[in-house]
Order: sequence, then structure tokens, then C-alpha cells
Amino acid sequence: MFDPRAFLREKRDGRTHAAADLREFIDRYTRGEIPDYQVSAWLMAAFHRGLDDAETDALTLGLLHSGRVFDWSALGRPSADKHSTGGVGDKVSLILAPLVAACGVLVPMVSGRGLGHTGGTLDKLESIPGFKTRLDPDAMRTQLDQLGVVMVGQGPDLAPADGKLYALRDVTSTVERDYFIVPSIVSKKIAEGAGAIAYDVKCGNGAFMTTPEAAVSLARRLVRTTERLGARAAARVTDMSQPLGVAAGNALEVVESVEVLRGGGPADVRELSLELSAVMLRLAGAEPTHEAARVRATRALDSGEALERFGRLVEAQGGDRRAAESATLAPAPEKVTLRSPGEGRIGGIDTYALGDVVVSIGGGRRAKEDEIDPRVGLMVRRRIGDEVREGDVLAELHLARRDAATEARAIAAFRITPVEVEVPTLVIERVDSAD
Ligand code: URA
Repeated sequence: MFDPRAFLREKRDGRTHAAADLREFIDRYTRGEIPDYQVSAWLMAAFHRGLDDAETDALTLGLLHSGRVFDWSALGRPSADKHSTGGVGDKVSLILAPLVAACGVLVPMVSGRGLGHTGGTLDKLESIPGFKTRLDPDAMRTQLDQLGVVMVGQGPDLAPADGKLYALRDVTSTVERDYFIVPSIVSKKIAEGAGAIAYDVKCGNGAFMTTPEAAVSLARRLVRTTERLGARAAARVTDMSQPLGVAAGNALEVVESVEVLRGGGPADVRELSLELSAVMLRLAGAEPTHEAARVRATRALDSGEALERFGRLVEAQGGDRRAAESATLAPAPEKVTLRSPGEGRIGGIDTYALGDVVVSIGGGRRAKEDEIDPRVGLMVRRRIGDEVREGDVLAELHLARRDAATEARAIAAFRITPVEVEVPTLVIERVDSAD
């Protein structure tokens, strides 16, 4: 008979679990047979004692098989998805999903909401009037077959044990361990049925992984675990020491994504969208090399095919296509210009603080039940290394009502220095499946 106390003692004392025991622990937890307080104790023990690769695999399988696992192979085309570990201004999914679908690869994208100071794709999509992020499995299959892309939320039947465990990790301060993060992410990605997954592991002061070493290690582990479960995978470790693009905030990010889909928009957003699209296309087998995949992705973007696919996706999921494609999707009542207090160069940006400013003005949630205000956000007008003079525009805040403390906090996030500054590289490391 499985004894949870003996299982807890094993990890508390630094020993290794048998894979079957770890699976049983998760299965019983999913069925409600082990209470949260025992799982919390295990989480803290494992947080300190660690899980080896075999234990991490067993945890991943336990989470994966706690719900349904989709299989799109009957549709007869390759499928791929992307997952970002989360950042500020990261709107790449909105561009890349229709873009890759326009290149003939199915994109069954299951996305999340904002987490902490980071934004979430679902919240961005829901700033489009009428857009539905819940589709039943039959509707998903039909849309995927006809349009090649769906963008939905997790739903209760996809890796439900991860939903329970993640909520517990959140409140027991046991989030930041790669042997917890990898099973959580990989179980959901495999369950959604994508045959190839591109990971975008964010790195910097606006990411959960702040050092390149930690981010590269997470990227390798994500790729390895995904491959062991039968899907192809590759990762890019990318800069999050400043927001991606200009816009941070839900409707503002949809507008910026449409700019990129029209062939314009900020260079870094375009570059990362093309890079990750190419990773997906190559992994899915649509092109033999990364270079050929880049060419194909660039053609789909510049020809307007990706924009057309985005418009059809919005329509198919009940959204207002004209509103989504308009230059001002949902204007906020107040717009405040934030100006530089000094002269020099932008030496650094506290990206976490800017993400938190967006959350604090209603662009994200502090509690699960908080309502999002899709109109609010920041337009970041200066990047690291840019020269500024006193009074130059640093950013614009779009908000429901003015608040001096928030404005001051956003200005303070820009560090101005008299010295030369090294501009961060967008793609810090490539982790390909062949590595
Ligand atoms: N995203 C997830 O889905 N899970 C984690 O543990 C961390 C980030």
C-alpha cells in the first residue's frame, strides 16, 4: 500500500524516488487522494533536495497523463508550436502562429494568461472584442483542419495535475526549479499534440531566469525532455533585459503585432518572430535547413499571407477582425508622456519594474479574480544604448486614470548613464535538437 509519509521521508532525507512511486504520488494527488498539505511538504523537500533526470521524466509523464493527450496526426500534416517562458512585451505568438500556419504547418497553440509581471497570450487575444479562447476538442479539430491554426487556453482536461500542482507551487514559493518548470511546461506542450516545439527561454531582469547559465540549462533540459517524449524540439535563449518591441499591454500589443504582420513594427519583434517561426518550420520538416525556413517565413510575412491568416483566425474564433486590424484597438482614456530626467545613455532598464507597472495599472492580475483592462499599457520609446537628453521621451503610459507614483516608478526603471553601453544581443544562445 502506498504510504505518502514514507514517500515524503524519502525526499526529505535526500534519496531518489522510483519512477513508479512518483507516478503513483501524482496519480493519487490528481484523484484527490493525497491532500495539498502533503504535496506541499513534498514540493519543499524536492525544492531543496532536487530531482534527477529520471525523476523529472517520471514527474513529466505523471502530469502529462493526468488528462487527455491530443493527436492531430489524422489531419495528415506536420504540427508545431512555440512556448515562451514569459517576458514583458512578448507578443511573438500572435505573429508566429498565423505565419507558420500560412507555411502549411498546423499550429495547435495552447497558451496561458499573464503570470506575475509577465503578459499572457490569452489576455492579449481577449482584448479583441468577441475573441473566444475556449473551443471544444471537435471545434479545435475542425478549425485546425480548415485554417491550420487555433489559439486557445488550457481547459480543464489538459494536464490537470499541472494546474493543481502549479497553483500549489505558486503559494508555497516552490516555482523556480528547472526540475519543476520542465515537467510543467513539457507536459502541457506534449498533451496539446504538437509534433515539434520551439522553446523561447527568456533571460534577463524581466524573465524568470536572470542569468544566461540558468536559461541555457533550462533550455537544454526542455529540449531533452521533449525529445525523450517523442516530439522534436529546439530552443532559443533570448534577451529579456529590456521589453520586447515597444508595446507592453494587451490591446497595444495586438496593434503592434498587426504592424509586424503588415511588414513594419519594431525590428526585434520581427526578427524574433522570423527566427522562432523558422525553428518551427525546420523542426516540423517543412524545410530542410534553418536558412531555407527563414526564407519561407520571411516570404509569408512580407507577402501578407500571415496577416490574412491572422484575420481569418480572429474571425473563426468569433473576434472582430476589423477592430483587431485597426491602428487603435482599444484606446485608454489617459496618455501620459514620461520624460528623461537627465542626459546620457540608457544604461539599463528594470524590465521587471515596467512589467509590474503594467500589471499595477490593470494590464495584469494581482489576484486570480482580478479583471484585466485591455486598454492600458506602456509604449517604451528608448532602448538600452540610446542617447537621451533631459526632457526627451522615454515612454508613454496608457492608463485609465493618472497616478503620479506609477509615473515616477516607470521613469525610475530607466537607468541613465554617462558612459558607453553594450547593447544586448537578442538571441543569446541556440540549442538545437542535434546538440
Ligand atoms: N510556466 C509553466 O507553465 N510552468 C512553470 O513551472 C513555469 C512557467
